[in-house]
Amino acid sequence: MKEKVIALVLAGGQGKRMQSDVQKQYMQLNDYPVLYYSLKQFEESAVDEIILVVAKGEITYCQKEIVERFCFKKVKQVVEGGKERYESVYHGLQVIDEEGYVLIHDGARPLITSSIIQTSIDGVKKYKACVVGMPVKDTIKIVNEQEVAVETPNRSSLWLVQTPQSFEIGIVKKAYEKMMEAKDTMVTDDAMVVEKYEKYPIKLLKGNYENIKITTPEDLVIAKGLLDRKEDKSK
Ligand code: C5P
Repeated sequence: MKEKVIALVLAGGQGKRMQSDVQKQYMQLNDYPVLYYSLKQFEESAVDEIILVVAKGEITYCQKEIVERFCFKKVKQVVEGGKERYESVYHGLQVIDEEGYVLIHDGARPLITSSIIQTSIDGVKKYKACVVGMPVKDTIKIVNEQEVAVETPNRSSLWLVQTPQSFEIGIVKKAYEKMMEAKDTMVTDDAMVVEKYEKYPIKLLKGNYENIKITTPEDLVIAKGLLDRKEDKSK
C-alpha cells in the first residue's frame, strides 16, 4: 500500500502581533491572501492531500473564500483549530487515520517553494522526522530576567527552524497524545514535541532564508519584496 503524504496547513492563529483587524493569513499579499501561496505550492506538489486548520467559526468562510475560490482540489478537510498552535496541530492530527507522512506547515509562511516541499518529502521518508531551517546569521545571546547576557552559544551550532516540520504519522501522533496527557503548554514547535515525548532524533535540512513567517507588520513588506523579486525572475 502506498503511504500517503499529507500536508497539515495551519491557519488558526489570531495574529495579535500584526496589529490588524484582518487575520494575517487572510491579509492581501500582492494579488492574493497570504494563505493562498502555501496552499498553491502544496496543491502543485507531490503531496496527496491537504488538511487545513482554521480558527473557530471560520470553516465556512475559509472553505468558500479560499478553498473553493481558488479551486484547491487537494484540500480534503477544513478543521477547527485551538487556542494555541499546538492545539491546532493536535486537532489536525486527530482527523488523520491513515499511515504515511505529515508535513506540518505554518500558513503564515507564504514563501515556501516546491523545492522545500520536495526536500521535506524526501527527508521524512529517509529520516522519519525532519524540519527545514537555516544556520543563524546573527549571534544569539541567552539573557537573564534583567535582559543581561548570561551566555553566547557557539553560532556554528545554531539553526533557525522553519516549517514544514515533517514526521511519520505514527510518531508525531503518539508524541502529541503524550504531550496533551501531560498538559504540557511549553512547546513552541512540533519537533520539540517529538524530541521530548518520543525521544526521536530530528534531522535538520536546509530550506532557504526566504521562507519567513509573517508575524509583525514589517514581515509583510519583506514578503512582498521577496515575492516581487521571484515574480520578476520568472518573467
Ligand atoms: O502565531 P504564530 O505566528 O506562531 O503562528 C504560526 C502558525 O500557526 C500560523 O500559520 C498560525 O495561523 C498558526 N496557528 C494556528 N492556531 C493557533 C495559533 C497559530 O493554527 N492557535
